Amino acid sequence: MGDAMCGIVGYVGSLDAAPILVDGLHKLEYRGYDSAGVAVHDGRNVEIVRAAGKLRALDLALARRTLHGTTGIGHTRWATHGRPSEINAHPHASGPVALVHNGIIENLVPLRAELEARGVTLLSDTDTEIVAHLIHQELDAGAPSLFEAVRRALARVTGTYAIAAMSRGAIRAFSIAAR
Ligand code: GLU
Repeated sequence: MGDAMCGIVGYVGSLDAAPILVDGLHKLEYRGYDSAGVAVHDGRNVEIVRAAGKLRALDLALARRTLHGTTGIGHTRWATHGRPSEINAHPHASGPVALVHNGIIENLVPLRAELEARGVTLLSDTDTEIVAHLIHQELDAGAPSLFEAVRRALARVTGTYAIAAMSRGAIRAFSIAAR
């Protein structure tokens, strides 16, 4: 699908999400990737675990830090912006928002400049993190739902992408979009 590589998975249900997400990521392994991660809503917060390298590394990270919760998103990354590393691995977070993304945000330069002018500190070198901040800003600006915040944020983005986003305020939901 266009520039989109690697994989995105999401789960909302009644079972522990993390093993289901990792299982989904294993099914996408054949597409190639350099790092992986998951975010799970534990009922209070969205917890993120990421690892550079093979899914085995994510498995080990999840053995050290078990995530409990029945809503989550997962990602395998093929780096386009920022080297393969844990810091650049997805999910990326901003405030209550966690985001996974495959593809490329083409207008990242002006968006990054705008965020930095507003005092946002970017933690990674990815184009993806910028979208996490845009969604967060839309929630702060009064978007009535995560879905609507994602829709408004993506109206500002050009590129080819598939994303899945979750938020602390939406315990049993994530929002997906593609272009
Ligand atoms: N452009 C994003 C990044 O470099 C996503 C890459 C992908 O499709 O996995 O992190």
